[in-house]
Amino acid sequence: MIGEFGRATAESGTRTDALATALTGLCERIDAACRAAGRDPAQVRLLPVTKFFPASDVAILYRLGRREFGESREQEATAKAAELADLPGVEWHMIGRLQRNKAKAVARWAHTVHSLDSARLATALDAGVRAVRDAGERQGPLRVLLQVALDDDPTRGGVAPADLPELADQVASLENLQLAGLMAIPPQRCDPDAEFARLADLHVRFLTQHPAGTELSAGMSGDLEAAIRHGSTCVRVGTALMGARPITSG
Ligand SMILES: *Cc1c(COP(=O)(O)O)cnc(C)c1O
Repeated sequence: MIGEFGRATAESGTRTDALATALTGLCERIDAACRAAGRDPAQVRLLPVTKFFPASDVAILYRLGRREFGESREQEATAKAAELADLPGVEWHMIGRLQRNKAKAVARWAHTVHSLDSARLATALDAGVRAVRDAGERQGPLRVLLQVALDDDPTRGGVAPADLPELADQVASLENLQLAGLMAIPPQRCDPDAEFARLADLHVRFLTQHPAGTELSAGMSGDLEAAIRHGSTCVRVGTALMGARPITSG
């Protein structure tokens, strides 16, 4: 007789196979993109994006050797981080839009925030990190990337390129934040090569003032080859690894 346990095990075995196959294919795709761009694959990190998928999927990816995971919604990520707190060495990346009143919650579990895009949010994150450090809930500063807006759509988030230098200087002066680089999401229906080329240009200029900010978080399931051609050091991939999300937002 196959009980609940047997069924659950068979189901998770199927999911493990699916994720293992997708992960292998994705790593091959990233390697091929690096070769085509004349880049060393060791320079491009894969950040699996696990938003909308259960903690059990994160646990499977962990067993397959992954340690970094991207999440875009504070509540969902806070719950997953708590559920998987026993797994050593996990690094959670907050990649979605972040409200200031969630800064302290995110400061508890986030290794890196990719979506810092305003002075007010920077101040809130710095204060949140300080509070959780003072409470002994966190050791080091929070790595942050500045999200740059490549279009004029304010709902997508990001700092306007003209305001980037000022924001970067402010963040660099905050004690509890470590300025690690830039991030962008190209606007839909445009040429990703042109957008990522523009981002690369902004990154070069940013590096002259902030040489430690070498991270360039760019590229998703649909455009990672273009991002890698233009210097991405971190591709954030959801759909091509996890399958289609139940809801397509966030
Ligand atoms: C969801 C999300 C991704 C992953 O997108 P896919 O197209 O599913 O690979 C990457 N970056 C951000 C900021 C996201 O919110």
